[in-house]
Amino acid sequence: CGIVGIIGVEPVADRLVDALRRLEYRGYDSAGIATITADGLDRRRAEGKLNNLAGKLANDPLAGTIGIGHTRWATHGGATETNAHPHIAGKVAVVHNGIIENFKDLLQDLARDGYFPQSQTDTESVALWVTRELDRGAAPRQAVANTLPKLRGTFGLVFLFDGDDKLLIAARQGSPLAIGHGQTEMYLGSDAFALAPFTNQITYLDEGDWAIVTPGKAEIFDFDGNPVQRIRQTSSASA
Ligand code: GLU
Repeated sequence: CGIVGIIGVEPVADRLVDALRRLEYRGYDSAGIATITADGLDRRRAEGKLNNLAGKLANDPLAGTIGIGHTRWATHGGATETNAHPHIAGKVAVVHNGIIENFKDLLQDLARDGYFPQSQTDTESVALWVTRELDRGAAPRQAVANTLPKLRGTFGLVFLFDGDDKLLIAARQGSPLAIGHGQTEMYLGSDAFALAPFTNQITYLDEGDWAIVTPGKAEIFDFDGNPVQRIRQTSSASA
């Protein structure tokens, strides 16, 4: 339902939760964040209100200067912690808004190669598909490029990769996504309002776009993989 991402220079966990609070108005049943810590990808998730997630983080903080966060409005799989995003498979973590309509077909195909989900969500099929691409030797951007054409349905997606704390990859099909440009940091959000405390310099992805976001740079591609330019605008969303 709500998505945020930060490629930061300072710790991100608290700021991810703060940004998710700005998306609470959209409604949600669970929430979570993932970062890259000294030990690799890690996450905290909780059913119910963001205060539950904040409470977990207070007891068990999450280090890291890059991360993604999500407030979930369940469509497939109950509103449990196991089904909350981010979903992690191997070296990728993903948050997703929307519905992957062909997730059962994807999971069937993945099962033949020994990739099995831990949740009941449609979303985890995406994480597993990307992981299989990575395991076959694809670099993160190629793994995502190979995965997106397989997905049917609607998605705003943001991917975080273990081993690269300067990279987020985002994709939009039927679910809005905005890139925020900071001085030294980069941001992603399902709307500009979520990013307003960080920056008012916003680039919206168009339908079918996907983006490779690194510090100071957003390379955007259309559905067919051709590089495209999208205008950067000054958002009037109030911080
Ligand atoms: N379909 C996904 C799920 O049920 C995402 C729901 C959402 O947009 O929050 O986990």
